[in-house]
Amino acid sequence: MWTPDTHRVTSTCLLAPNSSLLNRGIKAKPGEASLSHRGVLFLDELPEFTAQVLDSLRQPLETGEITVARANAHVTYPARFQLIAAMNPCRCGTAGANGIACRRGERCAADYQSRVSGPFMDRMDIQIDVPAVTPADLALPPDKEGSREIAGRVAAARDIQMARNGGFNNAELAQNRLEHVAEPSYDGRKLLIQAAETLGLTARGYHRVLRLARTLADLSESESVQRLHIAEALSLRRARKGLKSTPNNARNFRFAKD
Ligand SMILES: [Zn+2]
Repeated sequence: MWTPDTHRVTSTCLLAPNSSLLNRGIKAKPGEASLSHRGVLFLDELPEFTAQVLDSLRQPLETGEITVARANAHVTYPARFQLIAAMNPCRCGTAGANGIACRRGERCAADYQSRVSGPFMDRMDIQIDVPAVTPADLALPPDKEGSREIAGRVAAARDIQMARNGGFNNAELAQNRLEHVAEPSYDGRKLLIQAAETLGLTARGYHRVLRLARTLADLSESESVQRLHIAEALSLRRARKGLKSTPNNARNFRFAKD
């Protein structure tokens, strides 16, 4: 589990069937989502989960709690987890991979991706394509910055958040408090407002971009949220469309405005 004092993940990789995600059995025992409290909940092959199960995750994603109702019990469990999900571009997994087209056509990708609802994806702060590893990639030298160094940067950013936010990280901040600590520069706000119109951001999406930009600013040890932090947060919030390897809407917007 991810705990505030250890800053590390020691468990929780979800491979369980849909039914155990929120609760287990007629006695409403906590499911994987609650067991991931203060940890990471990983959903592999996201579209394979039913729409009902994914939509029921909206409550804990917003409030950090899950309420389970049973004939013999009505229980609220803590469930403040970091959600990480993975999915193939299409059901057969080949669409867009290194220029390979899915033999079933674009429809395969569109059908597969549409199994995850827009409101659910709206709650995902970071949405990125991860290209398949090629044999040439394996021959490359290791990155200069390894996991240990990255973990150090993340821990430093968390310390900054805790000190500024009175013991809370950015993810836990109430909206009014977030607006206060993540007030962007003039240029940053202008970019965010333009992007909200161009990309059709929802009110929730707007605040999620702001929250992510605040964290990006903390990672770069910047006291204020600048335009580049807003631009990077927007570029990480990929509009879900097709499976072309061309830059996404947000990235196009970023390049156009930078
Ligand atoms: Zn396919």
